[in-house]
Amino acid sequence: MKTIIANWKMELGVRESVALARGVLRGLRGMQDVPNILVAPTFPALFEVSKVLGRSRVQLAAQTVHTEEQGAYTGSVSAKVLKEVGVQAVILGHSETRAMGETDEDVHQKVDLALRHGLHVIVAVGESMATREAGETEGFIHDQIKTIFTGIHPTKRHTIYVAYEPLWAIGSGKVPSIQDVSSVHTAIKQQLDELDILDVSVLYGGSVIPENAYEFLNHSSVDGVLVGGASVRIKSLMELIHLASELS
Ligand code: PEP
Repeated sequence: MKTIIANWKMELGVRESVALARGVLRGLRGMQDVPNILVAPTFPALFEVSKVLGRSRVQLAAQTVHTEEQGAYTGSVSAKVLKEVGVQAVILGHSETRAMGETDEDVHQKVDLALRHGLHVIVAVGESMATREAGETEGFIHDQIKTIFTGIHPTKRHTIYVAYEPLWAIGSGKVPSIQDVSSVHTAIKQQLDELDILDVSVLYGGSVIPENAYEFLNHSSVDGVLVGGASVRIKSLMELIHLASELS
């Protein structure tokens, strides 16, 4: 089954997030093969969206979490509180949180904490254009995966998603070739296998829109897509969900 993760970033308010979540549930009515769907609204919308999603097949994700369990961390949100408001998964290591100072070591700590709290994790990795042009993409991602996942021991209850998101592709309208995506995905799966982290879903993210999604979703090395911009409008989000449903 293919996965669609909708990262709503800081694009929607509470009412808009609720309306979009309701729209997705309406759009799924009567659909034969519903793909695996996760939506990640902004923090203040999580509780209201969780009430809308209820026991539906659409899962709720947060966009980050703090490294620590609890304490004097003004402006931060803990894994425990995310669970309390009905969150099931969390995005970690997104380039936009990395740009605010999140390191691979932080992502490692957050993965460990999130799993201990029973959250699924969506870990983003990806190279800059300079790294790609230097021919160092696979080495760079290898180092990211090593730092983040060494010593992590998920159980069967946990789902681990790794989103390959080249930094230069996020929000830029540029996408890598499917051959490049495929070779990075294959390397990620092999490395995680060696670390004894099995059954990982590897997704592609970066400027995915309905017009280019077929090529990614149709490839056997791509378990799904993580979508930003095209996921905040019901029309394009449902087009992506329909495509994933057909290809699942
Ligand atoms: C993202 O936010 O992870 C992302 C891939 O954004 P976009 O689809 O807008 O490039």
